Amino acid sequence: MTAKLIKGTEIREEILEEISAEVKAIKEKHGVVPGLVTILVGENPASISYVTLKIKTADRLGFTEVQDTQPETISEEDLLKLIDKYNNDDKIHGILVQLPLPKHINEKKVLNAIDPDKDVDGFHPVNVGRLMIGGDEVKFPPCTPAGIQEMIIRAGVETSGAEVVVVGRSNIVGKPIANMMLQKGPGANSTVTIVHTRTKNMEEHCKRADILVVAAGVPNLVKPEWIKPGACVIDVGVNRVGVSEKTGKAILKGDVDFDAAKEIAGSITPVPGGVGPMTITMLMKNTLKSLKFRLGIA
Ligand code: NAP
Repeated sequence: MTAKLIKGTEIREEILEEISAEVKAIKEKHGVVPGLVTILVGENPASISYVTLKIKTADRLGFTEVQDTQPETISEEDLLKLIDKYNNDDKIHGILVQLPLPKHINEKKVLNAIDPDKDVDGFHPVNVGRLMIGGDEVKFPPCTPAGIQEMIIRAGVETSGAEVVVVGRSNIVGKPIANMMLQKGPGANSTVTIVHTRTKNMEEHCKRADILVVAAGVPNLVKPEWIKPGACVIDVGVNRVGVSEKTGKAILKGDVDFDAAKEIAGSITPVPGGVGPMTITMLMKNTLKSLKFRLGIA
């Protein structure tokens, strides 16, 4: 059996087209577009390349994009003032502070200063609480888990009553995706188990999964014999396992032994090109949502 590939690169294009069409329609009817500010402190090359990709995507969608770059030496107080400025700027609907921040700045304090109604990353405790309650309370689901759920839905995988096993319990992937899958509603209604480093017999849990979401950061952690035949496997892991002699670029592997797993699973995400492209896409969707909340049309 060869699994159906769930390609994030294709799903991203579908969603970006949908967002683009909505942005045009809202602009015509209401005369406004979504506004996103990205605050970058310092010159971390990985942060710069990530922010550049966000800017490119926002531009393509017709958003107002503000890139606010601050020196490494900015004080915590001044950064908090800057966030306050954007909290009060009506043209800005999403505020994003690129992490990591320099050591002299308390990241938690900075992230918690963002207005929860502009927290399009969905990490503010208010939004974590809203996600936990579920239903109409949810404003901004965190972007990577939202992307995972969207992929599962668009791949046509049945979630209602499905056994979902999530490997990993981080606040950015494992816990929120588990929480989202157990809520009442479409693309959810699943029976969820979370496994982690203290779990006994992880293999037995994984073998039960109709949908297996793996976010551990350990290459080839999930062996093919752990996969239930026909299961949907979402590999969130991104592991740099070497450098290509040909291109000089990093070789990326997921947390699942892809070549063997694809012969057993019903559907599977590749690495790269699977979950990766979904995160920025869902960030854009959350920013559009924020504008729609503001206009009372969400
Ligand atoms: P994290 O904060 O390091 O959490 C990893 C989780 O996996 C922890 O809960 C840990 O358990 C568990 N774990 C680690 N090794 C394990 C093992 N041998 N057996 C069972 N559980 C194990 O990582 P994260 O931020 O969630 O990210 C996970 C992976 O996803 C990384 O490769 C990351 O690069 C990738 N990622 C990709 C995207 C994207 O594609 N857009 C976004 C975010 C993350 P304990 O809690 O017990 O330590």
